[in-house]
Amino acid sequence: MFDSHVLEGTATLHIERVREEASVVRLDTRGLSIATVELSDDGRDWRETPFRLGTADSILGAALEVTLSRTATQVRVAYTTSPGASGVQWLEPAQTAGKVHPFMFTQSQAIHARSWIPLQDTPGVRVTYSATVRTPSALRAVMSAALDAEAPLDGEFQFEMRQPIPSYLIALAVGDLAFRPLGARTGVYAEPSVVESAAAEFDDTEAMMTATERLYGPYRWERYDLLVLPPSFPFGGMENPRLTFATPTVIAGDKSLVALVAHELAHSWSGNLVTNATWRDFWLNEGFTVYLERRILEAVFGRGRVDMEATLDRQVLAEELARLEAPDQILHVDLSGRDPDDGMTQVPYLKGELFLRLLEESVGRDRFDTFLRAYFEHFAFRSITTDDFVAYLDEHLLSDDAGLTETLDVDAWLEQPGLPANAPRSESDALSRVEQQADRWASGEVAAAALETGDWTIQEWLHFLKSMPERLATPQMTALDEVFGFTAAGNSEVAHQWLLIAIRNQYEPADARLETYLIGIGRRKLIKPLYDELVKTPEGRARAEAIYECARPGYHPIAVSSIDEVVRP
Ligand SMILES: [Zn+2]
Repeated sequence: MFDSHVLEGTATLHIERVREEASVVRLDTRGLSIATVELSDDGRDWRETPFRLGTADSILGAALEVTLSRTATQVRVAYTTSPGASGVQWLEPAQTAGKVHPFMFTQSQAIHARSWIPLQDTPGVRVTYSATVRTPSALRAVMSAALDAEAPLDGEFQFEMRQPIPSYLIALAVGDLAFRPLGARTGVYAEPSVVESAAAEFDDTEAMMTATERLYGPYRWERYDLLVLPPSFPFGGMENPRLTFATPTVIAGDKSLVALVAHELAHSWSGNLVTNATWRDFWLNEGFTVYLERRILEAVFGRGRVDMEATLDRQVLAEELARLEAPDQILHVDLSGRDPDDGMTQVPYLKGELFLRLLEESVGRDRFDTFLRAYFEHFAFRSITTDDFVAYLDEHLLSDDAGLTETLDVDAWLEQPGLPANAPRSESDALSRVEQQADRWASGEVAAAALETGDWTIQEWLHFLKSMPERLATPQMTALDEVFGFTAAGNSEVAHQWLLIAIRNQYEPADARLETYLIGIGRRKLIKPLYDELVKTPEGRARAEAIYECARPGYHPIAVSSIDEVVRP
């Protein structure tokens, strides 16, 4: 219900008894109001059963304990979500591209599914699901399930997800959505005013799928569609199966940011097919996915692009490791007593990727590809731990090579902080040339207009900005801005990097852009560093507080909780 910002409905859970004598089933909930709980033996006759909602834990929410009969096979819970549900965002028409209709979407990873469905909310349990969703007419509902792009807008939509998935991949969005096919198995949903540019941007999706299948075996989810969300979506993308949710900030007009599509598509193998069993094992999802993403980009766009991304990310990882306490630098991180969202640093992504690249470089690409293909096949539709992976690795890749086991030092990679000395290095000739240009300009050797920027890609422009000295004088800022128009940059990543520099150097001509940027975009990766930079000075903090006051109501709860820590500690 868009007016009250709540979902109201029933969840029917088909239960599988693990213990014959079990008399209680415990479900996860957060902020749900439970009306009734019923049991059924056959799905036709229902009877009410007692239930108890425990006291709410600030991280885990409240356990819903349902008394079971010996014969019950189904549990039906009638419930309402709360307007502040951590996994649901409700947008006013003004926050959409079209400005006419409201929009809502869910984000269940890591443990936010429980804020909109009572269920066993752990990646260790997989479910299939079917759903009936009622919406205001004129709006379209979509889910991470089989979709009918032609379904009439009559206020009721049916979905079925036949492949078993963990709860964090259950997803729903409702809005004024149009559809454009991209290929035989691919397409894009977006607001009508965005759908054409989205389709053009994601034009290579089918080619990426084909390249991934060639490397890692068949795509197991039938269709791959993308959903472009309004700008407040807190992440770059979310790999909801069959329907990736994506931020509109990657629609750059030149496909320069489509690494995101490669990443989310790769999750169809690493993460969605073979899933981390607990959030400690998150690197099994993300480290593998960044590795696959690079391989897809290499297959579709060539090695030069990948060398640039790898070199840039090595820098990002170094900065992240410098920022994090030692225990959080560990791939197999200990999250006991903590919110699993705390484990979502760059470590599982980038340190994880380096570990896999080390394996590839150690045994050779052909052998490693064969290994990975077999790994996805062996663990398909299962949730596994780091120990499961290590056992499989030992048996299928390392067993006959004691010397290799020694030099790899898997334990150092998985269980120790920091970056092991045998981490692969990346070099990009293109980026080295960019650094030379940046140095020549910063030392005053050449003027901005005389820089050799030729046909630089976005990655090169980003590196140019990152290579700037910590402090720039206003005339230097003005010169760069006049020649390259950074303050008005249409590319969201370039604008982000420039705004960081502008804040650091109190460059006032960028003030207005900073404000519209922070109010217009909710993607955490692009906005949080700007707030971090602002609060370093008293004047900056005052500005951060003023801008955040306007921006906060438009942000997703996940972004709000991160940025509250910065601006309202
Ligand atoms: Zn990912």
